[in-house]
Amino acid sequence: MDTRIDHSVALAALVGQVSGEPAMGPHLVNEAMIVHWVEAMGDANPVYVDDAGAREVGLEGIIAPPTMLQAWVMVGLRATLERESARASGSAKSGEESANDTMMRLLDEEGFTSVVATNCEQDYDRPLVLGEQVAVQLTIEAISDVKTTGLGTGRFATTRYDFYVIPPSTERSGSAIAAEVASAERIGTMRFRILKFAPAPRSAPKPPRPLPSVTQDNAFFWEGLKDGELRIQRCTSCGTLRHTPLPGCGECQSLDWDWIVSAGAGEIYSHVTVHYPQVPSFDYPLPIGLIELDEGTRIVANLDMNPDDVKIGMRVQASIVAFDDELSLPVFAPVTA
Ligand SMILES: [Zn+2]
Repeated sequence: MDTRIDHSVALAALVGQVSGEPAMGPHLVNEAMIVHWVEAMGDANPVYVDDAGAREVGLEGIIAPPTMLQAWVMVGLRATLERESARASGSAKSGEESANDTMMRLLDEEGFTSVVATNCEQDYDRPLVLGEQVAVQLTIEAISDVKTTGLGTGRFATTRYDFYVIPPSTERSGSAIAAEVASAERIGTMRFRILKFAPAPRSAPKPPRPLPSVTQDNAFFWEGLKDGELRIQRCTSCGTLRHTPLPGCGECQSLDWDWIVSAGAGEIYSHVTVHYPQVPSFDYPLPIGLIELDEGTRIVANLDMNPDDVKIGMRVQASIVAFDDELSLPVFAPVTA
């Protein structure tokens, strides 16, 4: 039986509604923000930073990168967090709830508490120039039926942001901004689509780790691990060790080889900790080391330690761990004095 709360009717009523009063950007279009943006984006177009270069192509001075549209109305992290916490604690009066807030609340009540941004489209009517004041008005444009996706079941919601240029000002009430926007020139639009969803339950058992591709060149290594040995390939012509296993010696080109059994002692030459993407067979965060074995070659392996404690040069010792009947792997842990 489906016991999910269904807000379809209330949500449908929100589509097309303007959400709250328009908001004004905290800063006029300015050179400093543009310079930081183009540096971060690696955009070398001179029309954004060089007045003469902009005039050469027929502009009246430098323009803001069109993709900065939303940056001009962002209020910053602190103000955003304060607004979020006010909303969460319910101190925002119900009468002040915007259409967007109502939509998010209804979707939460339906059980769609997770959110992921799915796409963003922007249209530009004309470029912004220095000294302009930008205001933004949100409209709920679309809310989908309940859909089942790879992430879980939920609804797609599209909010349209209409951007306007209004006369510059530092202090203005929401209603005063609304009055300006009513007769202002629209300079761009952004459609921002999210999926609000209920995450799929994580009740499924963890699948086994993927198995290696075993060949005639590396079978000795995988068979060794099953027998509890860390075998390292050795050139029988010049004695050079090599890992991962290869058919020939990189030093003397000999095709003749055998192996030694490593004592599994060495030090961390380099390391990385994997956080994403998360594959269900593994636990995260997942620390991985490049270990310089005392016998004189390197091997990539799991580290059995807190990722924050991993240090280059740290002494480590391998244990052979059976992950399941099919797969055993060396796992390195710090050597305790
Ligand atoms: Zn060799």
